[in-house]
Amino acid sequence: MARSERKPAKHRIVTVRMVVVSLVVGVVLAVGSVPVAAFVSQRVLRAWKSPASQKQYWLDKGDHQIYIFHRDTPCYAHWESSIVPDGMYDSPGPDFQRPRRDPRPPYARRAYTGHVQSIVSSSAGWPCLAASGRALMDGTPARFWDEWFPSVTLGPLAWRVPVRPIWPGLIGNTAFYTAITLGLLVGVRVLRTRRRRARGRCVACNYEFGEGVSACPECGLAATA
Ligand SMILES: [Zn+2]
Repeated sequence: MARSERKPAKHRIVTVRMVVVSLVVGVVLAVGSVPVAAFVSQRVLRAWKSPASQKQYWLDKGDHQIYIFHRDTPCYAHWESSIVPDGMYDSPGPDFQRPRRDPRPPYARRAYTGHVQSIVSSSAGWPCLAASGRALMDGTPARFWDEWFPSVTLGPLAWRVPVRPIWPGLIGNTAFYTAITLGLLVGVRVLRTRRRRARGRCVACNYEFGEGVSACPECGLAATA
């Protein structure tokens, strides 16, 4: 009688399916953490208006000056810049730092256009900032527009979500959440395998072995696997 030629099944502690599931969860959490971080942080910053929470900078660029206001939370960074032609305002007081280098990230900057400009930019994400967006004003009469910074409404809640990817942050967050998810899945699998082995069951399909059985009759896994 010909027995079915089946390769003996192997019990792996990490499967392709676990990796794929972890990656999908990682992407969802990395992307999903952006609107959540923006929502929580915008409310926190609005409610908590201590002057100490705001950093102020002043950059003298010769033909124009830049006034910069910065606030942040562990998962959010808010930058406001006013760019004004030389001589429009007096020099600012001692509560403005005068850094040698522009402290703003690239998405919070914009080239001088010869007009008064305002740039309000936000970035959000956890553990790294993963997306940015900004609202701009330029010229006289003033023109207003947004870049990658839509308003999101969810029932009675409305807030602004930065949606332009900051790739290193987004990829880093995806790796972070993927690793945590995979770690949890592997942990659960290891515990399940131990429990099944201790009970004398097949570690792959939980079939109860009899005495002296060399392979699982259900899935073909060797009893010693
Ligand atoms: Zn089995």
